[in-house]
Amino acid sequence: PRLANQIAAGEVVERPASVIKELLENSLDAGAMRIDIEVEQGGVKLLRVRDDGSGIVQDDLPLALSRHATSKIRDLDDLERVATLGFRGEALASVSSVSRLTMTSCTAGADQAWQVETEGRDMQPRLQPAAHPRGTTVEVRDLFFNTPARRKFLRTEKTEFSHLEEVVKRLALSRFDVAFSLRHNGRTVFSLRPAHGEQEARRRVASVCGPAFVEQSLSIDSERSGLRLWGWVGLPTFSRSQADLQYFFVNGRMIKDKLVVHAVRQAYRDVLFNGRHPTFVLFLEVDPAVVDVNVHPTKHEVRFRDGRMVHDFLFSTLHRALAAQRPGDQPG
Ligand code: ADP
Ligand code: MG
Repeated sequence: PRLANQIAAGEVVERPASVIKELLENSLDAGAMRIDIEVEQGGVKLLRVRDDGSGIVQDDLPLALSRHATSKIRDLDDLERVATLGFRGEALASVSSVSRLTMTSCTAGADQAWQVETEGRDMQPRLQPAAHPRGTTVEVRDLFFNTPARRKFLRTEKTEFSHLEEVVKRLALSRFDVAFSLRHNGRTVFSLRPAHGEQEARRRVASVCGPAFVEQSLSIDSERSGLRLWGWVGLPTFSRSQADLQYFFVNGRMIKDKLVVHAVRQAYRDVLFNGRHPTFVLFLEVDPAVVDVNVHPTKHEVRFRDGRMVHDFLFSTLHRALAAQRPGDQPG
């Protein structure tokens, strides 16, 4: 079965960024309110995620690293309303088959923390007592140490880290209430306190996207027939310098969607005669019943029941906000 894990790992574990995504989603699933991430050499040498979530009981620790043991999907019905972010029950098994992995955890009731350790696909998980406050630390060392072919596909340390950082940023923008810190090669990249209320949310966006973005953006907050759109759209002064700052969340989940990009671009083009590089951090809140979340783990897609209405709402909201701010229209 460990060999099957390693083969399956090709689908899930592509690079350090895909590992960090799985680890962070697990921490959020476990109800973590604080997540600390430590990375060395772009994540290839070390990825460490420490959380203060529910933890894992001793007996479940080795199981957490075995394939399909923990899948939350019991039937198709579950699939249709995936309440939590994780659902495949194989990410850790896959990662452990291509790395040296230790997982240390302590639950609220336990009088002792436990650690499970694996090395590649040949080693059975080894369980031993450990010291750890409530929560879990997963440490992944030497990613792809036993799969040289896969290792060759890794890019430079800088590139791998920037992919990884992007994953952390997305999650940090999707959960303002959770504290995140990220360190790379001993240097703090960011340290985000929980953000409650508009001012703190603004501060978090500034930390994640850079202060220039929030300074040169419009804040949006609009509600119509069960849809609410809020967040920030960059003004053209900013848009010209930064091309790829586009974050769109539906009910807290980051998506990349043609309909959304089209609506935003069209609003920009209509008002500013420049729809090429809109920048935005936007949150759409809708009744979950009107949106199908595509459950494919690596795709960021949704399907709106009434795409036209969503498009119109996005377009008209942004159009109005941008038009009111058009530089030529401002007094003085
Ligand atoms: P999945 O998340 O799809 O169930 P994973 O392989 O990612 O599969 O994780 C396996 C299991 O290990 C999870 O279902 C969960 O029970 C447990 N687990 C993993 N990470 C954590 C964590 N940080 N805190 C608590 N439990 C965890
Ligand atoms: Mg998971």
